[in-house]
Amino acid sequence: MNIKVLNTIKELRAYTRELQIQGHKTGFVPTMGYLHEGHLSLVDLAARRSDKVLVSIFVNPTQFNDPKDLEAYPVDLERDISLLEERGVSAVFIPTKEMIYGKRHQSAVSVSSLTALWEGADRPGHFEGVTTIVSILFHLVKPACAVFGEKDFQQLRVIEQMVEDLHFDLEIIRGPLVRESDGLAMSSRNVRLSESERQKALEISRGLRRALATYQNGEKEAGKLLGVVRAGLENLVDVKIAYLAIVSEDTLKPVEFVEDEATRMLAAAQVGKIRLIDNIALTS
Ligand code: AMP
Repeated sequence: MNIKVLNTIKELRAYTRELQIQGHKTGFVPTMGYLHEGHLSLVDLAARRSDKVLVSIFVNPTQFNDPKDLEAYPVDLERDISLLEERGVSAVFIPTKEMIYGKRHQSAVSVSSLTALWEGADRPGHFEGVTTIVSILFHLVKPACAVFGEKDFQQLRVIEQMVEDLHFDLEIIRGPLVRESDGLAMSSRNVRLSESERQKALEISRGLRRALATYQNGEKEAGKLLGVVRAGLENLVDVKIAYLAIVSEDTLKPVEFVEDEATRMLAAAQVGKIRLIDNIALTS
């Protein structure tokens, strides 16, 4: 096997030390595993911007506000490792939760305003879990750059803000959202959707596309554009809209009209037992 599988912090440290001595530039892609083309597109992006790609697979318990969601999170490490190897990844770090969070662990990293909204409002503690694990991983891996997907647009903005605020010495690269051929945003959680739930879930991306087309045809009023998405979802049985919003990409605050500033439409909905998120850029 060409890929190095690092199962302990000690192994990771020895590996990253070696890379530094040899003058390599490491590109890092943190994941929770059960990899799909969305993750692998970030790997490809990291490979273009560095000469060694390191991926982590860690289902971080502290970012799950719902214990049932954590329990049901899909795992297939063997498949993940072989996908990463095929993609030319140099090393994969797969720690246990005990290695990351010692018995005496009591530190956290938090970002304020950006996390008060949307996912943060619906999932208490989620973003603090994310920013803390990402900080820990950045310290351990010491990458020159790290790639995060636009699929989790709020998460991406929170990480960008954290890196700016805390002067982390690395570049954050945005990876475009990758969709299934039918338009569904790729997610490790999609395997948990039944066929009929999946059909309903498709209405999220359809709605976003319809709203984008409506905007491109001249409608700038956020309320009207949101109405287009809401209309497709509100009458579906077993689908509950968590939020639909048109926001400034910078502040994530809602806008009333889509103007020149970079603006994104965010959507989150519960389909059966699965919470799905999606988004689309209205301006660029
Ligand atoms: P996760 O394993 O869900 O924590 O995701 C790890 C990284 O992959 C995060 O930066 C996600 O935003 C990114 N990601 C997940 N799904 C997609 C997708 N469909 N397209 C692009 N990036 C994605």
